[in-house]
Amino acid sequence: MNEETLKIPQATAKRLPLYYRFIQNLHNAGKQRVSSAELSEAVKVDSATIRRDFSYFGALGKKGYGYNVNYLLSFFRKTLDQDEVTKVALIGVGNLGTAFLNYNFLKNNNTKIEIAFDIDKNKVGKKIGQVHIYDLSELQSRLIEENISIAILTVPAEVAQSITDSILETSIKGILNFTPARLNVPSSIRVHHIDLAVELQALVYFLKHYPNDTENS
Ligand code: ATP
Repeated sequence: MNEETLKIPQATAKRLPLYYRFIQNLHNAGKQRVSSAELSEAVKVDSATIRRDFSYFGALGKKGYGYNVNYLLSFFRKTLDQDEVTKVALIGVGNLGTAFLNYNFLKNNNTKIEIAFDIDKNKVGKKIGQVHIYDLSELQSRLIEENISIAILTVPAEVAQSITDSILETSIKGILNFTPARLNVPSSIRVHHIDLAVELQALVYFLKHYPNDTENS
């Protein structure tokens, strides 16, 4: 994201891709404007939050008019650097990793898995979709050579930290960690942690204890 958006709260920043996707759809459908209520219904974020989020980037909706779709679209495009493809590497081509390689991320945003790594000799040298699988011994050199900025970790938890340590001195700036391991990294690297088991457990808990609460987190 560019400098103008540095002041946007992180929770707001995380919702931007969601807004962007919906605004793109509206634009493609030829719509000129959208109300916060319509947006709220579509992206399942309450309208007060949407109004607050949008006020951070200077989109002030008018009563009875809503927001200008073209303005929003150009803002999101600029802010999310959608003109530039962000290169991603996937490390660990197991069940989860394979599913990601088969999923076309480019459809919805400008990130692309360019390259994959594994230690399994049966997987190394093969291709899934368009993506080549290389041996882990080539990890650092290939990340640097291809200028990859994001790593998706879908390896067993026990090896997550050592793999992380080994990519600190490369082009990697962000890690999407799907393992349950909590990673130690220097402040120059950002880690987002997605633990599917924990998310499921949290959902079960909420269904049980707050069955009528429709507020989305
Ligand atoms: P998952 O569904 O989590 O992908 P899985 O049962 O398919 O699990 P795991 O044992 O979790 O497989 O391993 C995921 C992948 O990571 C496998 O393809 C495995 O060969 C690979 N792997 C294991 N250790 C390493 C490592 N040190 N570096 C890179 N890849 C590894």
